[in-house]
Amino acid sequence: MKLKIAIQKSGRLHDDSIKLLKECGIDINNGVNKLKTEAANFPLEVFFLRDDDIPQYIEDGVADIGIVGENVVLEKQKQVNIVQKLGFGKCRLSMAVEKSVDYTSVKDLQNKRIATSYPVIVEEFLQQHGIKAEIHEISGSVEIAPGIGLADAICDLVSSGSTLFMNGLKEVETVLKSEAVLAACHNLQPEQQLLLDKLLFRIQAVRKAKNNKYILLNAPNDKLNEIIGLLPGMKSPTVLPLAESGWSSVHAVLNENDFWDIIESLKAAGAEGILVVPIEKMVI
Ligand code: ATP
Ligand code: ZN
Repeated sequence: MKLKIAIQKSGRLHDDSIKLLKECGIDINNGVNKLKTEAANFPLEVFFLRDDDIPQYIEDGVADIGIVGENVVLEKQKQVNIVQKLGFGKCRLSMAVEKSVDYTSVKDLQNKRIATSYPVIVEEFLQQHGIKAEIHEISGSVEIAPGIGLADAICDLVSSGSTLFMNGLKEVETVLKSEAVLAACHNLQPEQQLLLDKLLFRIQAVRKAKNNKYILLNAPNDKLNEIIGLLPGMKSPTVLPLAESGWSSVHAVLNENDFWDIIESLKAAGAEGILVVPIEKMVI
């Protein structure tokens, strides 16, 4: 019995999807032009598909799970469970208008023509705001629509905003924030559910490790209590005596979010020789 996973064949999510599986210790040989492959050391079969098709494959149970943008899951309206956010493929679905347009609020979209590849999500957004507008569904190069007179506004995926800028557009509303997610079929067999749980356990260990750093520092013993007080730990920091008397080595795990603040306070409290090391996996 194998777990079948669908990932993007090529495009923005492909490399990170493969990388995530590798970080989970799963070896897949990723031959170009292959439609599917099998992992050597995990009961996993990998299908390479267009991202737009992945929700349907999961709903039908052709694939048990898949890695796809949340934006695609929401747009396709298929019956799938989002089981884990994956932290890559981050982008937003935004409304944009030509730079010269005087835009103050969402009301300015009333009775306008909006070009998008995401008609379902856009329709829902407009309804929520009580706006009526004409949605033009187009499948690619949405950003040129205002320039050629096809639409007054567009709703498209943005990450840095440089594509919009280059096309003389400005971002005016964020409709949705998205990232890659692991989606799963509603009715998995018990064996497949067990395999999914095993994979999820690994993914979570990899993701936690990415958000944390291992820190080692030297502390004069008379400052030890103060320094330990600054450190959160998985349990509490590890404290080891140094060869030089009066000094200790302190080891702890720090979260990326409050990392720099804590490092500054540690230094101010007398810590020396601070080393920061990446963590590969973290199981807690
Ligand atoms: P496919 O050939 O598989 O249909 P595609 O051209 O539809 O590919 P990509 O452009 O590769 O799709 O984007 C895949 C996903 O990457 C998007 O659905 C979105 O979730 C995410 N993404 C992240 N940043 C961006 C961005 N700046 N523009 C578009 N998509 C982005
Ligand atoms: Zn696509």
